[in-house]
Amino acid sequence: MKHKLINEMKLVFLSDSRNESFARSAVTAFVSQLDPHTGELADIRTAVSEAVTNCIIHGYRGTVGRVTVDTKLYADRSVRIRVSDKGRGIEDIEKAKEPLFTTDDSGERGGMGFAIMETFSDRMTVASRLGHGTTVTMYKRLQ
Ligand code: ATP
Ligand code: MG
Repeated sequence: MKHKLINEMKLVFLSDSRNESFARSAVTAFVSQLDPHTGELADIRTAVSEAVTNCIIHGYRGTVGRVTVDTKLYADRSVRIRVSDKGRGIEDIEKAKEPLFTTDDSGERGGMGFAIMETFSDRMTVASRLGHGTTVTMYKRLQ
């Protein structure tokens, strides 16, 4: 069943790591109008942070590009957050989603971002095309 859209906001910002905290704060401030529990808000913060970090670190990898975060609120208290970049894209999405899988060789990344996003949302989908970019969509129904 499709529920009524009650509000939406869209952020577009450059792939600067300082925007990670900006994006998660902006999304949680927006979602706050639904009076979520603190745990639900913490889950959203973390999931947005992981998705945006991936766009900046993997999608654009040191180059400058635009990250978009589109947030929709529905009448059944569900939230849809869509984070996208127009960066390098993911070669094998199923593999990328596996816990501990990372293409990072600096030893700094644990390969847990997608696993965290999946755990902290009710549903997550990833769409990507090599050389064209990646879109992660997360749904969470608030109590
Ligand atoms: P961690 O999130 O624990 O710091 P990680 O970012 O490597 O480590 P995931 O977030 O699970 O782990 O992502 C897994 C892999 O998927 C990444 O190593 C990268 O290869 C690929 N990936 C994820 N997001 C993107 C993206 N937006 N663009 C291109 N590749 C991506
Ligand atoms: Mg990650």
